[in-house]
Amino acid sequence: VISGSKLFPAVNNLNVQDYFYKSFKLLPEVINTSAARALTEIWHDSRPAEQKDFILLDAGVGIGAVIVKKGVIIDWQDEYLGEFGHTIVCPGGKTCTCGLKGCLETVSSIPAIKEGAAAALGRKSITFDSVIEHYQAGDQAIMKVVDNSAEYLGLGIANLINLLVPDKIIISGSLFELGNSYICKLQRIVDESTFPLFRKKGVLMQQSIYREEAAAIGAATLSLNKFFTTFHSEKFKNKEDIRAKELAM
Ligand SMILES: [Zn+2]
Repeated sequence: VISGSKLFPAVNNLNVQDYFYKSFKLLPEVINTSAARALTEIWHDSRPAEQKDFILLDAGVGIGAVIVKKGVIIDWQDEYLGEFGHTIVCPGGKTCTCGLKGCLETVSSIPAIKEGAAAALGRKSITFDSVIEHYQAGDQAIMKVVDNSAEYLGLGIANLINLLVPDKIIISGSLFELGNSYICKLQRIVDESTFPLFRKKGVLMQQSIYREEAAAIGAATLSLNKFFTTFHSEKFKNKEDIRAKELAM
């Protein structure tokens, strides 16, 4: 059951399994989108599991970070994955959707950038595609807004590296459609703020090759994996039958 979503209030209290079962007579797998993106990276990486240590940074409307150690997402079966987007980077800053002030999402998420860009251009609103166009065309006012947002995200990423020392950071999500100059700027800020020893080790920041399809691929792979590993077990069939009967009541 979805609860507490400030970004998508219309889906609060929605029982996802119930909804899909009633519509399609199929039991869906339900997964957080950031975790789904991380699963895509884990399952489509041919290296041995013990070599898969990374942080998946998912940045778009919200900002999330998923920690992967030895090919396993840390704590992903729990209700909460951690809230990197709600770590405070501007004490006393703007009020966030979560109620705190100055969260990373208030300065570095797509809605925050759109708001800043619209103000800079003296407009009421602006689409993110339009922000990307202005940014890539070198519009100084928009570049200032975007680069300012990169400063905070870069500091946040450097803090993650200093705390968790991952082998690499995989960046995923619509924010990075801003392109290479944004990613290079971010990398520079991350390098400048990373503990010298870890900077020397070199933590690679690399963009996911799956782009906007990453979450959908991860969610689909979750179902396929379940099908191939458990579908033929009687325990699984009984569990599915019981759940289907419950939902049909
Ligand atoms: Zn917040």
